Order: sequence, then structure tokens, then C-alpha cells
Amino acid sequence: MRGARIMHVLLRRKNLRRPFPRAFASRLKGRRIRSVSRRGKYLLVALDCGDTLLMHLGMSGSFRINRDSKRRTATAEVTGERHDHVVFTLSNGVTVTFNDPRRFGVMDLLGDGRASHQVFAAMGPEPLEASFDAAALARALTGKRVALKVALLDQRVVAGLGNIYASEALHLAGLSPRRRSSMLAAAAGRPTPGAVRLAAAIKTVLRQAIARKERPYRASRFRVYDHEGEPCRTPGCRGTIRRISQAGRSTFYCPACQR
Ligand SMILES: [Zn+2]
Repeated sequence: MRGARIMHVLLRRKNLRRPFPRAFASRLKGRRIRSVSRRGKYLLVALDCGDTLLMHLGMSGSFRINRDSKRRTATAEVTGERHDHVVFTLSNGVTVTFNDPRRFGVMDLLGDGRASHQVFAAMGPEPLEASFDAAALARALTGKRVALKVALLDQRVVAGLGNIYASEALHLAGLSPRRRSSMLAAAAGRPTPGAVRLAAAIKTVLRQAIARKERPYRASRFRVYDHEGEPCRTPGCRGTIRRISQAGRSTFYCPACQR
């Protein structure tokens, strides 16, 4: 997308999780794309007019990129897929199609300067950057009384971590999702050994997930997520994976090896 001009935007419905902004397609048409980046769970497409196209995949959203549409046409390719909701046709002949069966995704246009939006101002560190380490995690959890799993979903603690990988990281670190968050910070906010393991586990599960690039959803790739009632995969552990609800979300964990 970078460097290309948006020739056409096909909207096949009025809304995803929320309505598309007014004149969404016409405001994008003709704009050149300066950069494509990500912060937390948001994709940010900076446009030459100063606006930023903000996109969120929600639960089930994905992009399909077609580089083969050789004709530089202003008309989007006719798409047969039922859940293809938005099709961007670019000046370089590429089409980018957003598919989202459950429609929890979001697309929005932020006016000039608003890319440094409130959401981003309060957002915590990127988990794969060097600035996110055990010390940063312990600092963010100091004094927090909520359960550790709930704290990990708080985007102010760490950006971009979702329900699946919060469970996965806690299992890899051998920490109970029910543990009080503040227990990962020792006196003066210093990291405990558990915080060291958890910061490393968050990086590991995310790197592995990125390396797999797997779609569609397959539970077999997870350590605990969606494995209720199955034996724990931790070597030497004879526990059984349980599912509990925390803050309205499912948590999967092994009560035997996660303490
Ligand atoms: Zn276990």
C-alpha cells in the first residue's frame, strides 16, 4: 500500500462493529498512502492529506492482498466472498480486501493530527520492543489488585496483547491467571522472578504466533486456549486444562503447573 494512491473504495455494507465514518470512501479516494504502521491492535495508514485511516481486525478480520489485478482500473474487483466488506483498489494494481465474518472490526478516519489520539496516549509499551521488559511490567503492575490475566488485557499495561495470548503467556510462564497482579512487583516496584518469566513468555508466544502466520483459526496451535479438559502440555505436568471466566472473558489454564 505504501506509496500507492487509493483509486477506489468499495464498501459492501454501512457498518462493521460501528458505522463507517461519513463519506468514508470519497474521503479516501485519490489519496496517496504515506506509510503503514501498527500501534497496539490498531493498523494506521497515513495519507497525504494528513488524515489517518485507522483499522482494527476485531475478532475475525483479515486482509487479502491481490497483486495480480494487472489492469489499473478505478473499479474494484467484483468479489464473490460473502464476508468481504471493504475493497481498496490501488494505483499499483493491487487490491486489498477486508474480510470479517463476525464484523467486530473497525475502520475510522482520524483528521489531521488526531493519530496521536487519546487511545494511543494512554497505551502501554509494545511487547516486542526492548523497552518492554520485566522491570517495565513490574512497574505497570505495582499496586494493582486485579487478577494477573485481567491486567494483561489492559492496553495501558502492555499494548496489543489479547485474550488468547494473555492465557498462552501465563501458561508458558507457569503463573496462575488468578494471581493478584501486584505480586509480580517486589518492594520498590522491582520485578520478581515471576515478572521476569512473564515478560519473556509474552515475547515468546507473540513471536511464535507471528512466525506461524496461520489462518484460519486452529485451536491445535495453542498451548491452553480452547483446550478445556485436555491434558496439560507442560513437560512432566499431569494437570488438566480448565476454563474460567475473568472480567467476562474466557481464561484457559492449568491449575497444576500455573501458580
Ligand atoms: Zn500443567
